[in-house]
Amino acid sequence: MPALTEHRTRELLGTEKLPMVKGTFLPRGEAPEQPLPVPAYLKAQIPGVTSRASKGLVRLVEEAEELSVGLRDIQSRAEDANLEGVLVTEPVDLYAEYYAACTLELGGEGRPAGGLLLFNPRGGSGVEERADSLVRIDFSLQTPPSAARIEKSIPRIKGGERLCEFLQSMVSVFCRFKLLVLEVNPIGVTKDGNPLVVDCRAEYETRAVPEDHSSLFGVRTSRASDLTSLERTVERINQQDPSGTGFFRQNREPAPEGSWKVATNLCGGGGKMLWEMATGNRRDLYALNESDTSGGLSAFKSYRILRVILSQENAQVLLLTGSGMAFQNQHHLAAAVWKALRGSPTPLPSLLRFGGTDEDLAHRLFERVSPSLPVQVGHYPATVFPNAMVDDIPEVAVDSREAVDTPPPPPGDPVFSVENPPGDFYFYPERCDGKRPGCVDVCPTGFLQWDRERQTIVPSPEARCIGCLMCETHAILEGESELLIHLRIPWETAQ
Ligand code: SF4
Repeated sequence: MPALTEHRTRELLGTEKLPMVKGTFLPRGEAPEQPLPVPAYLKAQIPGVTSRASKGLVRLVEEAEELSVGLRDIQSRAEDANLEGVLVTEPVDLYAEYYAACTLELGGEGRPAGGLLLFNPRGGSGVEERADSLVRIDFSLQTPPSAARIEKSIPRIKGGERLCEFLQSMVSVFCRFKLLVLEVNPIGVTKDGNPLVVDCRAEYETRAVPEDHSSLFGVRTSRASDLTSLERTVERINQQDPSGTGFFRQNREPAPEGSWKVATNLCGGGGKMLWEMATGNRRDLYALNESDTSGGLSAFKSYRILRVILSQENAQVLLLTGSGMAFQNQHHLAAAVWKALRGSPTPLPSLLRFGGTDEDLAHRLFERVSPSLPVQVGHYPATVFPNAMVDDIPEVAVDSREAVDTPPPPPGDPVFSVENPPGDFYFYPERCDGKRPGCVDVCPTGFLQWDRERQTIVPSPEARCIGCLMCETHAILEGESELLIHLRIPWETAQ
């Protein structure tokens, strides 16, 4: 997770007009246009670098002469290519120091995912040792808390009302810029009770940064011409089926020699976080791609994105995991994975971790279908941490893949098609002797209906197809494949 420097975090906070200590940012190599007031703090701005003071990258200067020497020294000392510049801030007399942070919460049993506002009336350095006074306020990302709600949760302290408005603005910045972490430590309180930002930092996801915010974050967002053909394919999948998150980016870095090339399907921020925790800086594992399939996407879309993930050259194994508490129905996801593994001409040995709604049905599905797949599949319950999956990679990964024959598209014409999520439904009444097939009964929305007179399946005008694949899964496993769904993939050819 990339980190934002203090001066960039101040810019984000400034969009909500949060008061902060006066400061001037001098981009790398630039001198101040006019004399800056002293005393002043000089702070090197290097993304992700902490403990700056111990490295001489933060210092207090008392005299004008010291300031220019200090600036030159920091700029030369920080030969780090990532140095963005130096932030020069004015000291301020403080009455108190508080701590506040917003973070993303993955949720848990009976607790939905969302934001978490942390506040400690005893802030400043060493705040982590003062957990006894930490206040936690859960909030929905759609409806952040009002200042009045915050006020009910935090202790009565100096400048309480203005502080609550300050915290509310912090939450607004956190939500607006889709940050992962936003921390202000300390929030300084002046003698007249005004809170202000003294020091701050933020963490974010590169892909969550829209193009018009890219200069604020100092990142380059991908333009269509920068994308690989597989990435453009996923962009087209998203255009045709915009519901839910379908993110896919290939790794541009060269793979370390001898490393295992892992195609990943990570579901949500929780899946990504667990993958990173499980792999850390391991050089023997190389993720061929970043991915995120989450946010209530259909199994149709999961299938399409999985087909793209599986088609990556040099991949040796597929690893799929979410947080273990997914909202996406895991049985539907498992049906999508099964369809992708049996439909891909280049399937991969797969390590699959299902956790969330209907996870037991997901595991039962793979217990049943794994023996008939052309690749080895391991499936793990949510109680197993992805470390164990990663440890199993050398056992299942293949040195090279043989292309396999895939089932041809269903013969004939579809009996009907669904536009959103897009899919073509084929039905073969002779395979069920013209009797009402069981696949109709498993449709969770009632979209799939049986027309007894015409002896065929029909779509209900009153219900919606959610693209769950339950009907096809049932038809293949319990029936005679009387219903098949063809999901076209808008492949982009390499340029
Ligand atoms: S017809 Fe029903 S069971 Fe089949 S994919 Fe659509 S919602 Fe799911």
